[in-house]
Amino acid sequence: MPKYIMALDQGTTSSRAMLFDHQGHTRASASQEFKQHYPQPGWVEHDATEIWQSQLAVAEKVLADAKVGPQDLAALGITNQRETVVLWERATGKPLHNAIVWQCRRTAPLCDRIRAEGFDRTLRDKTGLVTDAYFSGTKIAWLLENLPGARARAERGELACGTIDTWLIWQLTRGHVHATDVSNASRTLLFNLRTLAWDNEILNYFRIPASLLPEVKSSSEVFGETSLFGAPLRIAGVAGDQQASLFGQQCFGRGMVKNTYGTGCFLLMNTGAEIPRSESGLLGTVAWGRQGRTVYALEGSVFIAGAAIQWLRDEMKLIRDAAESETLARAVPDTHGVYFVPAFVGLGAPHWDAYARGTITGITRGANRYHLVRAALESIAYQTRGVVDAMAQDSGLRPEMLRVDGGAARNDFLCQFQADILGIPVERPATTESTALGAAYLAGLATGFWQDEQELAAQLQLGRRFEPSMDVSRREELYAGWQRAVERAKAWAK
Ligand code: ADP
Repeated sequence: MPKYIMALDQGTTSSRAMLFDHQGHTRASASQEFKQHYPQPGWVEHDATEIWQSQLAVAEKVLADAKVGPQDLAALGITNQRETVVLWERATGKPLHNAIVWQCRRTAPLCDRIRAEGFDRTLRDKTGLVTDAYFSGTKIAWLLENLPGARARAERGELACGTIDTWLIWQLTRGHVHATDVSNASRTLLFNLRTLAWDNEILNYFRIPASLLPEVKSSSEVFGETSLFGAPLRIAGVAGDQQASLFGQQCFGRGMVKNTYGTGCFLLMNTGAEIPRSESGLLGTVAWGRQGRTVYALEGSVFIAGAAIQWLRDEMKLIRDAAESETLARAVPDTHGVYFVPAFVGLGAPHWDAYARGTITGITRGANRYHLVRAALESIAYQTRGVVDAMAQDSGLRPEMLRVDGGAARNDFLCQFQADILGIPVERPATTESTALGAAYLAGLATGFWQDEQELAAQLQLGRRFEPSMDVSRREELYAGWQRAVERAKAWAK
C-alpha cells in the first residue's frame, strides 16, 4: 500500500517538494532557491529550465532523504506561483524565452491601452479580473508580439504555452500532457468563469491562437503519469498556490476565509457555486474544480504585510529579526496614537491606489520605537480587516472565523490583534505548509488515498485559536483611526 503523497510547491523564489502521510503529517521536505532575473527596472523573469531542474532535484532529494521509492507514493500534487508564463517549442520542450513572472510590469502600457479601448469591462465581466500586468494574458501577447517569428510559429501549432503547473506537467510527462487546472486558468485573463473555457472573444482580442493553450481540467483528477522517479506515478492534483492554501486550510464551506501573511497578504473567501462579483476592488476567481463541481472565491491582496517588518529590520534597524517585533510590541499597551500605513508600493485591495505612499501619523513627543514596531504589526491586521469588510460587502457573507498561515502568522501578538480588530476568532493550524498540503489533498482525493472532505476534516490539527477579547467600542475607535491614516497616505505620489 502506498503510504505517501508527494507535493511539488513551485514558488516565486524557491522550488519545494514535500511528502505527506495518510494523517496529513509532513514526512520530509526539501527546497532549493533559484535565480531571479531583472533585465530592466520593473521586469522580472525566471529561467524556466532552472525552475524545472530545481523542482526535479528537490523531488529526487526528498525521496532519497526519506528513503521512499515511487512505489510508496499514491500520487503527485502540484501547486505553483500563479500567473507566471512560459512559451516553448512542442518538438523539443525548449523555452523560447525566460518565464515572465507575475510581478513583471512590462505589459503595463498594454493594459493602459486595453482600458483606453474600454475592453477592461469585458475582461472584468468574463474573467473576474482587473486589467493589470499581473495576469498572464498580456504576458503571452507580449511574447508573441516581441519574439521574432513567434506568432507565425504559434499559428502553425509549433508552440505551446502555459503557467508553471502546465510547464511542470509537460516536463514530467515528457511532452505527453499539455494541461492546466481551472484555478490556474482563472488567473490568465483568458478564461471565462461562466463557461469554464478559454474565451474566443478575448483570445481574438489578444491575437492568441487557441492551439497554444493547454487543455483545462479540474483540480483533482488524473492528469497523466510521470515515470521520471523509476516507476509510474500519477499526477492527480493541481492548483495555484493561494487556492491550494485555501484547500489545505480546509476552507471547504461557503463564507470560509483564509489569510496568508507573507511579504504581502492574500485573502481568499470561498463563495461556493456562485461566481463572485466585486464592487469593492476584489477579484473573482476559481477556487478549485472537483468531482464535476466548481467552487469560486473572492480574492483580495495586500501588497505590504510582513515586508513592513523586514523594512523595520533592514532599513530602520529597529529590530534584529522579525520575531523580535513581537517582544517590542508587547512592551507597550498600545501605539500611543501612532498609525503606520506601509503603502510602499501603493495600496492594493480594496483601495487600488498606485500613488499612495508609506505614512506614519499621530506621532507625539512620547512616541518611541516600541510604538512604531507595534504600529507596523497592527497595520497588517488593519489592512486585513479592510479586505474582510470588502468581502462581506461583496458577498453578503460575514466569516465566522479566519484561518491563517504564512511566515508572519507565527507572530502571536499579530494573531491576537487580528482577532480583536475583526471581532472573530483566528485559527492557526499546526502545520504552516497549507499550500503544499492543499495540493497533496487534491491529489490524494483523486486517487482514493483519502475518501472525502469529512475524512480530511478529522485530521485538521489546530495549532492555536485566538479569541477576540477587545470591546467593540475600542475596536471601532482604533479602526476609525486607521481609516483616517489611510486617507492621509492616498494619492501622495501623484
Ligand atoms: P513569502 O512566501 O512571501 O516570502 P513567508 O511566508 O516566508 O513569505 O513570510 C516571510 C515574511 O514574514 C517576511 O516578510 C517576514 O518579515 C515576516 N515574518 C516572519 N516571521 C515573522 C514574525 N515572527 N513576526 C512578524 N513578521 C514575520
